[in-house]
Amino acid sequence: MENLDIAKFGGTSVANFAAMSSCVKVVVSNPKTRLVVVSACAGVTNILVELASGALSREECEGKIAKLRAIHQEIIGNLDNKEACTAELESHLTEIKNLAAQAAMERSDDLTDRIVSHGELLSSYLIVEVFKKLGHKARCFDVRSVMRTDSAFGCARPLVEVLAALCRQNLMPLLDEDAIVVTQGFIGSNSEGMTTTLGRGGSDYSAALLGEACNAATISIWTDVPGVYTTDPRLVPHAKPIDELTYLEAAEMATFGAKILHPSTLVPAVRRNIPVFVGSSKEPEKGGTWVKPETETHPSFRAVALRKNQTLIVLASPKMVGASGFLARVFGIFAKYGKSVDLVSTSEVSIAVTLDAGSNTSGITSISEEMLNELREFCHVRVEGKLSLVAIIGNEMSKTAGITAKAFDAIEKYAVRMICYGASNHNLCFLLSEEDAVPALTELHQHLLEA
Ligand code: ASP
Ligand code: MG
Repeated sequence: MENLDIAKFGGTSVANFAAMSSCVKVVVSNPKTRLVVVSACAGVTNILVELASGALSREECEGKIAKLRAIHQEIIGNLDNKEACTAELESHLTEIKNLAAQAAMERSDDLTDRIVSHGELLSSYLIVEVFKKLGHKARCFDVRSVMRTDSAFGCARPLVEVLAALCRQNLMPLLDEDAIVVTQGFIGSNSEGMTTTLGRGGSDYSAALLGEACNAATISIWTDVPGVYTTDPRLVPHAKPIDELTYLEAAEMATFGAKILHPSTLVPAVRRNIPVFVGSSKEPEKGGTWVKPETETHPSFRAVALRKNQTLIVLASPKMVGASGFLARVFGIFAKYGKSVDLVSTSEVSIAVTLDAGSNTSGITSISEEMLNELREFCHVRVEGKLSLVAIIGNEMSKTAGITAKAFDAIEKYAVRMICYGASNHNLCFLLSEEDAVPALTELHQHLLEA
């Protein structure tokens, strides 16, 4: 659709009535914004994940349900049709309670997805009511009728062609109508109509997928910071916003832990060359960052990022000296268990790889004993946890003299467990202990980006 802007609002942007009201102002100030994608209200998905874990006592469950009620009642308290909204909220809470009781008997990924989907279902329902309260037409659209995915519950993969066809049929005709269309991020459904989720933080990805499917001109990601920063400002107070970034730099930042964009968010936008804007729904006047195919500047150092929850697996096989096929066998096993490897470093007889432990919606790490046992059949396996990845993102790094010296100087105080450099011109990565990661990030930022 020509000129279409899709606006996505994150959890903090829809945390309460005041925050939702700011979103409404942002949406109506841009006539091109016809489709709105929302996350669950801040904190809600975490509570739902706990309820889905099956690990809570009956009293703890009651407490969580009460918390969910309080978060959503704050919004309802500011609306005119409190009765209808309360009835809707209570029916979601009853369903959540029943499903949580099932999870207490036996948890599963598909049950988790059903439970957590209520976060987005509730926030989308309520923000429509906020639109109405502020005098604007809006309607709620169940994204599950278009967001078709496979059945990998907890980190489902979209079926892009089916999604596009379903959008043409069920969603695009609505975008020409008066009312703004509001829908859910993060959730989808498989071909049997079962609810799925795209993995934690998946709402940005939803917005980008819908942008691609509806042929949007721009995608706006509204969050609680005015753009993408040189690093997470909560970790490094001197972090500064960046005006513009290439897709490539942004993808590197997201991959290496910049929370601002979900790692796969950009893929659908890149496929269609759709510029993505990132800004703050509370302070839209502060501007934000445009992520585009090309930018005017290409600095050596653009940003530094931190990614927690890294697991290092070191595989050694002295028998392999001079032999071939070791790596193929190792990667064959990772592929068989659906494990995606992030960093790799090898020597003649050993290989070290990192795996991310935290992308499944359930939060449960999935480095299975079964997989490790299969590896143990032909090599010695060592698993190390509690590690973090610190990445420097920039341009033409491996072609510029002095880059590595500057980076190594900045972190001379810390023990580095692994270094990855050279495969990409855009990053230099260090694996460090959890405790050293933030201090090292701060030093790198100071030396490379504050000068
Ligand atoms: N509500 C989901 C989460 O917290 C999805 C999102 O916010 O993007 O992970
Ligand atoms: Mg979120």
